[in-house]
Amino acid sequence: MVYRIAVAGLGKIANDQHLPCIAKNKNFKLVAGVSRHARIDSVPCFESLAGLRASKIAVDAVALCTPPAVRLALAREVLDAGWHLLIEKPPTPTVGELISMEAYARKKKRVLYATWHSRYNASVDEAKKRLKGKRVSHLRVTWKEDVNRWHPGQEWIWQPGGFGVFDPGINALSIVTKILPEPIFVESATIEVPSNSATPIGADIRFKRGDGEQADLSAVFDWRQRGEQIWEMEIATRDGLKLELKKGGSVLLVNGKTVREAPLEEYEMIYAKFARLLKAKKSDVDPSPLQLVSDCFMLGKPVVVDAFRWSV
Ligand code: NAP
Repeated sequence: MVYRIAVAGLGKIANDQHLPCIAKNKNFKLVAGVSRHARIDSVPCFESLAGLRASKIAVDAVALCTPPAVRLALAREVLDAGWHLLIEKPPTPTVGELISMEAYARKKKRVLYATWHSRYNASVDEAKKRLKGKRVSHLRVTWKEDVNRWHPGQEWIWQPGGFGVFDPGINALSIVTKILPEPIFVESATIEVPSNSATPIGADIRFKRGDGEQADLSAVFDWRQRGEQIWEMEIATRDGLKLELKKGGSVLLVNGKTVREAPLEEYEMIYAKFARLLKAKKSDVDPSPLQLVSDCFMLGKPVVVDAFRWSV
């Protein structure tokens, strides 16, 4: 089966990953683009979803690659048109909007796939397998990157619903919520917000287990990193197993030894899975990474720090 797909929100991730991965996947055929400014040479492009709908071009699914703050209304437009829907992470600015979007897709009997790209990695799957049935006593997540390098000039990340440093941080939490054998919960957090911004540039989070057992569980996210970019986590269990996931989850070390170094094929795997979901007419929506971020804002202590300026 070949699904006719349109991509809406033709920014960095649409161009870096969605368009190339759609082109590589024989289950999809790109039929249109939607953007207020950008164009794709090979297919018709429209300034709005309404324009695409009015064109009568046959579409089966839409990949929505806009920032999260505007997704719910656009998602409803897609579902109202009878199209299936794939959305970028973070799915929505609040848990409430995600619940509403999922219910709307169910009502419209359409597939909704809320992607978490960092979960699609053979090393992450291997870590999950090795942690099955274990009791986790230690978790340390370190996600430190340079915002200038990964979000050049993107103003939406500093606006309400833009997530700030939780935009990459939620990728780490999407791995954590996939591989840990039991859910963890936010205990406390310190959230650093630049004086000229609505969203954080740094966060220091402590988690707890649900059963009250003592455990040393934490995460640090920072967007002021220069030089080496760090996306890693270490996990220890009561029975002495030590896992380290490095390079965004693509490299797995077990008790100090590298056991897997997977190629980065996150979006290839996302489109392979979308084809399977469409065939099975099944949705996939996991709110747990978004819930943890939301809980950080609920329980965190905000600290105002120096104003952010883009470096040139
Ligand atoms: P971006 O480069 O700013 O692109 C966002 C696109 O959405 C733009 O093409 C813009 O298109 C459209 N858009 C912006 N505001 C809109 C609005 N109010 N209404 C409708 N469309 C709007 O951002 P990005 O980096 O691609 O990120 C988009 C999403 O992908 C985010 O959720 C992000 O977390 C996720 N993501 C990004 C990366 C990355 O490396 N950057 C990696 C993985 C996931 P027009 O203005 O042309 O309409």
